[in-house]
Amino acid sequence: MQVLVVGSGVVGLAVARAAAIAGHEVIVAEATAAIGTGVSSRNSEVIHAGLYYPTGSSRAYHCTRGRRMLYAFCASHGVPHRKCGKLVVATNESERERLAAVHKQAEINGVEGIEIIEATAARRLEPELACVAAMRSPETGIIDSHGYMLALRGDLEDHGGMIAFGSPIERLRPARGGGWDAAVGGSDAQWLSFDAVINCAGLGAQRLARATEGYPVERVPRLVLAKGNYFSFAGRPAFSRLIYPVPVPGGLGVHVTLDLAGRMRFGPDVEWIEGENYDVDPARAQAFYARIRDYWPRLPDGSLAADYAGIRPKLTGPGEPAADFMIDGPHQHGHERLIHMFGIESPGLTSALSLAEEVTNYLSS
Ligand SMILES: Cc1cc2nc3c(=O)[nH]c(=O)nc-3n(C[C@H](O)[C@H](O)[C@H](O)COP(=O)(O)OP(=O)(O)OC[C@H]3O[C@@H](n4cnc5c(N)ncnc54)[C@H](O)[C@@H]3O)c2cc1C
Repeated sequence: MQVLVVGSGVVGLAVARAAAIAGHEVIVAEATAAIGTGVSSRNSEVIHAGLYYPTGSSRAYHCTRGRRMLYAFCASHGVPHRKCGKLVVATNESERERLAAVHKQAEINGVEGIEIIEATAARRLEPELACVAAMRSPETGIIDSHGYMLALRGDLEDHGGMIAFGSPIERLRPARGGGWDAAVGGSDAQWLSFDAVINCAGLGAQRLARATEGYPVERVPRLVLAKGNYFSFAGRPAFSRLIYPVPVPGGLGVHVTLDLAGRMRFGPDVEWIEGENYDVDPARAQAFYARIRDYWPRLPDGSLAADYAGIRPKLTGPGEPAADFMIDGPHQHGHERLIHMFGIESPGLTSALSLAEEVTNYLSS
């Protein structure tokens, strides 16, 4: 089958790779000039264990399964990563209950090795930490997300797939003999035909779904943009594990992330925005200092610098319950060989290999 995958972020690349390995002829159309220039290069680069997601949700399933697949993929493909572990911390007595709720959900989700520890045990692990209790998650890690995407691309190309850069897909319409015609924009604008289309366009997924002839516009979910800002820390890292507060509405709280070079940064916060922009307002540092000092009181004044921002493609807004990943395939909308993927926010990086298997299975069903 000739398959068009729209978007070369981590999800598009993982889907394209899985489809090529399954024996399909795969073309990835990417609007920009490189892989991974969207949400996939603007995140925390954390391999999530799968602690938080509601029972029975697609996020719970794909995060835990995708995480196991991802560690195996990193090992077999030499992708730089480190299973550094993380601590989720309660910084006052009133947060103990929320910490216990995270622990319970993590147990239900089948996450390995988690345990609640008291403050003294937490400080033995991380002497700079202030907390009343913590939850250890030894399966959490960090990854070089670009190295990961390069490895996915390598596998895709080894199985005969290719990526067309500078090729925005502007419209889709049902082809006469079955399958889909795609209007490719850019310098070489043309219509091309495919047997199947998988929309992995991230922040552009809703726009393409609305430009799909015959796909009911009322099925297209709302796109809500939640920016996550990061601040870098110039000094020597204070922690050797990732440190997360208990989650906040819209995100996981301003946490400590480490990169593979051992540098420490903080973020992301949650800033609801109307249009795409990636500026980080240095004034937001004030709120960062306050939140970080809840668990790291010795954070020095003047040590944070505005770094980068990413945008979560959410399906629900402030005050509304978090939405699940939404995969709208033939079983849901009735059009054969058309799959739209909406709302692939965190933990999409961790989940990509597992999501890719589910989506590729739809091609043969
Ligand atoms: C602040 C933040 C922190 C996060 N932290 C983590 C984390 O620590 N761990 C984790 O697991 N997940 C994390 N995530 C989630 C993760 O980054 C995303 O789920 C994942 O990167 C989504 O990948 P994608 O391929 O769907 O989207 P993208 O990477 O955005 O890729 C979509 C691609 O489609 C292209 N495109 C768009 N429209 C078209 C079109 N019409 N034609 C052709 N191409 C098109 C774009 O140019 C882009 O390259 C985080 C997300 C954010 C925002």
